Amino acid sequence: AYVITEACIDVQDRACMEECPVDCIYPGDRMMYIHPDECVDCGKCVPACPSQAIHSEYSVPPAQQAFVDANAVFVRTH
Ligand code: SF4
Repeated sequence: AYVITEACIDVQDRACMEECPVDCIYPGDRMMYIHPDECVDCGKCVPACPSQAIHSEYSVPPAQQAFVDANAVFVRTH
C-alpha cells in the first residue's frame, strides 16, 4: 500500500483523491489517509501530491515510519 506522511498535515490538497481509481484516500482533521487494504498500489496519487507526502510502504523515509500505522489506524477507526 501507499502511505501519506507528515507533509500532508495542514495542506490536504486532495489532488490525490481525484487520481485514485479505487477511492481509498480519506480526509482526516489535518491530513489525508490511505486505506492500506483498499489501495491497489497503482502509484497514481504520488505525482498528484504537491507536498510529495505519499510514499510506497516499502520506501517510507525512516523519520516518517509512524505514518504507516497512522494511516491504517485512522481508516479502521473512522
Ligand atoms: Fe489510490 Fe493508487 Fe494511491 Fe493506492 S497508490 S492510494 S490505489 S492512487
